[in-house]
Amino acid sequence: MKQGPDLKRIEDNMRSGALAGHQFLGTDTRTLADIIHQDQLLLEPLGLTHHNIAERMRYFTDQATEHPGPVFVDGKFRVEREEHKGGILCPFADNVQASKSITQVTNTETGETVTWSDLNIHLIAEHGFYEGHGAPFRVDPAKYAEVLEIKV
Ligand SMILES: [Zn+2]
Repeated sequence: MKQGPDLKRIEDNMRSGALAGHQFLGTDTRTLADIIHQDQLLLEPLGLTHHNIAERMRYFTDQATEHPGPVFVDGKFRVEREEHKGGILCPFADNVQASKSITQVTNTETGETVTWSDLNIHLIAEHGFYEGHGAPFRVDPAKYAEVLEIKV
């Protein structure tokens, strides 16, 4: 997929610029445009949008913020939040800063767990970006849908 100059600049900054330490792209060699496009293709057959995924993530993050310590949500999800000081700037250069705090959700029926930072919610909602393969916080959209039981 063709990538405009803006996305190219953002990609360079993620790979080798000031943001490289966050490893947003992991070991992925695809362009940023391709990563975003291919995740969009994973999402479409599920009938979901990035906002459906992000809303569900926010739902669990809000529950965990209100109830510190592990909390059971809807009888089957074990939700835990790890508070971290400081923030991370959105790599898409929109001056959005999110906290580094992490939410972990385990679906106790399947035993599967997904983990995200507050920034991931923004990246998905606003940029359709789930990070690259091999990135510490990469979760593919179908996995979010499955573990968090996101339905249309
Ligand atoms: Zn942003």
